[in-house]
Amino acid sequence: MNDISLPSLFVSHGAPTLVLQEDATQRFLKRLGGLIPRPRAILCVSAHWTTQRPTLSAASRPETIYDFYGFPDALYDLTYPAAGAPELAEQAQRLIEGAGIECDVHPDRGLDHGAWVPLMLMYPEADIPVVQLSVQPRQAAEFHYRVGKALASLRSQGVLVLASGGATHNLRDARFDPQSPTADYVMRFADWLERNITTNNLDELLNYADRAPDAAANHPTPEHLLPLYVALGAGVNHSEVMALHRAYAYHSLALDAYAWY
Ligand code: ZN
Repeated sequence: MNDISLPSLFVSHGAPTLVLQEDATQRFLKRLGGLIPRPRAILCVSAHWTTQRPTLSAASRPETIYDFYGFPDALYDLTYPAAGAPELAEQAQRLIEGAGIECDVHPDRGLDHGAWVPLMLMYPEADIPVVQLSVQPRQAAEFHYRVGKALASLRSQGVLVLASGGATHNLRDARFDPQSPTADYVMRFADWLERNITTNNLDELLNYADRAPDAAANHPTPEHLLPLYVALGAGVNHSEVMALHRAYAYHSLALDAYAWY
């Protein structure tokens, strides 16, 4: 165990093709690993693992999961062979349960694309062990914030809390024409998010469904926003919060990233 202190991060993973196509978000994620101290392990919260109770994967060799359809064949050839960290999964379970939240460990769940898309860009060597944590769409933002808070102490133990979702995520309104302009309601929500994250306006953030402009249009289902609240909670004792990256794609996706140091 070492004593480097890591930020908690929220990143937007966009489409799985982000790993294949160079753009500003891909370049950002490729740089991101070099901008922070090297973690000894990563706890990755993925929007693509939804469960009733917070669940940690304790796989010692997590397989790469291809949880998408209709994308180029090249994506199915990619693997992310990082080791797991079963002892970290158990430690995180104890921390979450210590906060009064029931929590499960899954013995062999692999890494879905919510995890491996950013990880492949940030740490292409796949030489840092990874544990995945699920989100609970039936639970509120505040619940996820409490899960994150329970994990905050891991940051000073060399563990990177990497939450992967989407700043906005209306897939039904996505347009794959690269010339398609970003929808106004998407920019309004992303601006609201940046303003309230960078001013640490917890009350506003935790009540986003009622307070944010066009919340339901930007998040018809909550799972892509919920990882952000785990990162926010894990960053509870931060001395600095930064908007690391802002970008739009496909008319309806904001691909923003934040760090709590
Ligand atoms: Zn996604």
